[in-house]
Amino acid sequence: MERIVEIEKFSSESELETTLRPDCWNDYIGQDQIKKNLSVFIEASKKRDECLDHVLFFGPPGLGKTTLGLIIASEMNANIKVTAAPMIEKSGDLAAILTNLDEGDILFIDEIHRLSPAVEEILYPAMEDFRLDIIIGSGPAAQTVKIDLPRFTLIGATTRAGMLSNPLRDRFGMNFRLQFYKPNELATILVKASEKLEKPIEASSALEISRRSRGTPRIALRLLRRVRDFAEVADETSIVLQRTQYALDELGINDNGFDEMDLRLLKLLVEAKGKAMGLSTLAAALSEDEGTIEDVFEPYLLANGYLERTARGRIATIKTYEVLKFNSPQDDTLF
Ligand code: ADP
Repeated sequence: MERIVEIEKFSSESELETTLRPDCWNDYIGQDQIKKNLSVFIEASKKRDECLDHVLFFGPPGLGKTTLGLIIASEMNANIKVTAAPMIEKSGDLAAILTNLDEGDILFIDEIHRLSPAVEEILYPAMEDFRLDIIIGSGPAAQTVKIDLPRFTLIGATTRAGMLSNPLRDRFGMNFRLQFYKPNELATILVKASEKLEKPIEASSALEISRRSRGTPRIALRLLRRVRDFAEVADETSIVLQRTQYALDELGINDNGFDEMDLRLLKLLVEAKGKAMGLSTLAAALSEDEGTIEDVFEPYLLANGYLERTARGRIATIKTYEVLKFNSPQDDTLF
């Protein structure tokens, strides 16, 4: 059977990102525990000739949630439809998607925490009993029509596990939290990608890009493409360390992997001199919404010990004062 991969998602994903996307376990680097567990569950459901149980992935953007969804589809030899919650506005939209699925298909919903309560209501019986409950009419004359659905697997992805309603979370048979990647894992991803791009990369260059990529494959691959541009213009046949360092410096990519927003956020915190800042204050000062700060910026800074969340708000760590070359408030009290 030929698999259909239908991606109906508006993202900044370029065609190149699609070509670089791994489509088998061998090319999917890191996240070893997730890979190990998923392979067992996939194998077991194939043996039983059943659909895989519903799966939930959570973690910051660009860590490989969609890629995992596509690999699952490929391993299960199933069709996959990829969509995102903001595109499912009304319950009728979801009903249409569900009734169009075939037995064994996979439905991937990105940003699943953004489904409206009315749409979620439709999803519950669909996930649990493969049934659509449609209410026709209103008031005392309202009737519920039940429609049987084919058995399918829902794969949900979210950057905000905390925003997911409990009834929805409970309906997933498996949930996995993706971790940031280690520099050597990102370097392997870059070496494989550069082979696909037919522009070999030196190991030291791959590691240099990895160190500056916030532990995130999407960022590493984006930087690789920019560095490759520099190498091409300089007529170099491979990506060497010197050109890489030059390109990254030209692009203003910080040595610690911070991007501009990380730096602005950390600077605000160190300038507060140990006084905790609330999320809403940070959001206002950075003109960014609270959700983006929590989902996109903070996880990396928290995971790497640059930021702490306390009951009173966020504070910078001693490491941050050192990296940004600011005196820490503790030093001030010493003198
Ligand atoms: P998410 O859905 O979590 O935002 P994606 O699955 O779209 O992230 O991944 C972003 C890009 O990073 C993909 O195009 C893919 O090429 C690459 N990528 C992510 N995880 C891995 C991995 N473990 N190994 C290799 N490449 C990866």
